[in-house]
Amino acid sequence: MGSIALDTIETPHGGRQEVLGGSATFFGVAAALFAPVRLVGVVGTDFPDSGWQLLEDRGIDVTDVQRVEGATFRWGGRYSADLDSRETLFTELGVFKNFRPSLTDANRDCRIVYLGNIQPSLQLAICAEMRNGPAIISDTMNLWIDRNLDELKQVLALSHILLISDEEALQLTGQSEVAQATDRLLELGPATVVVKLGRAGAILATGSERTLIPIYHPAPRVDPTGAGDSFAGGLIGHLANHGGADMVAAVIMGTATASYTIEGFGLEGLLKATPEGIRARAEAVRQAMD
Ligand code: AMP
Repeated sequence: MGSIALDTIETPHGGRQEVLGGSATFFGVAAALFAPVRLVGVVGTDFPDSGWQLLEDRGIDVTDVQRVEGATFRWGGRYSADLDSRETLFTELGVFKNFRPSLTDANRDCRIVYLGNIQPSLQLAICAEMRNGPAIISDTMNLWIDRNLDELKQVLALSHILLISDEEALQLTGQSEVAQATDRLLELGPATVVVKLGRAGAILATGSERTLIPIYHPAPRVDPTGAGDSFAGGLIGHLANHGGADMVAAVIMGTATASYTIEGFGLEGLLKATPEGIRARAEAVRQAMD
C-alpha cells in the first residue's frame, strides 16, 4: 500500500511531466518480478488507461485499488546537479485525502505487508485490517515526519522492518549522527532497520549488529525517483521467496533492483529489469563485499 501518483520530475539532464509513479507503483512493479503483488490504493478519474494497463501487464492484482471521483495524487520534485538531493516542488494528495481503505479477504490474509510512503493514518488503517499477523515492513518520508510524527511512531511500533533514508532517520529521531539515529529507531519498534545512504549504500541494523551493503556501482544515474520503493520491492521479493534468515541477501536484492530504477526517468529504468538481470547485479554486489 502506498501512493499511486502522477509525477513531474526535473533533473539537470531533463525530466518528465505527469508520468506514472508513486510509492506503491514502484514497489509493485519491482516486487512483481519476484512474487505475487496485491496493490492497495486509490486513483482519480483522471488516472490514465495506460496506468491500469501497465499494472495489469505486470500481473499486479488491483482489486483493492479504488477509482473515485477527483484527482490522482500528484508529486513534483527537482534534483540537484549531482542528483544526491531533491526538493519537493508540490505534493497534491487529491483522492488520497479522503481515502478509506477497505480490504478484500485475500488481501487481509497476506503474509507480508509493505506500508509504502503515504499518510501514517492510512498505514495504521491497513494494519488494523490485516488478519493472521503478517510481517510488516514500512517506509516514510520527510513530509509525514514533519506533519504526523505521533502516528508515524505508532506505525513504527507495529513494524518488523523499517526502511528509511539517512536524512529521514536523523529528522525522525532528532539525532545528528546516523549511528545514534539507527539505535534510536530500533528502540521505537522494528527489530530490523535498513538505513539507505544513497550512493554510499545501506546499513542493515538488527540488535547490535550493523552491516554496510554497497550499491551496484556501474549503473548510470539518470533519475533516482522511486529508488527507495524499488529497493523495498527487491528486498521484500526476496523475503517472500526465501524468508528472513539471510537479511543481507534481501538488502542486496533491494540494492540490485533499485539500480535499474535510477537508470531511467520514472519507471523507464525499472521496466527494463528482469529477475535474471537483478540476480546478476546482486551477485556483483555480493562479490564487492568479499
Ligand atoms: P522514492 O524516490 O523512492 O522516495 O519515492 C518517490 C515516489 O514517492 C514518487 O513516485 C512520488 O509520487 C511518491 N511520493 C512523493 N512524496 C510522497 C508523499 N509525501 N507520500 C507518498 N508518496 C510520495
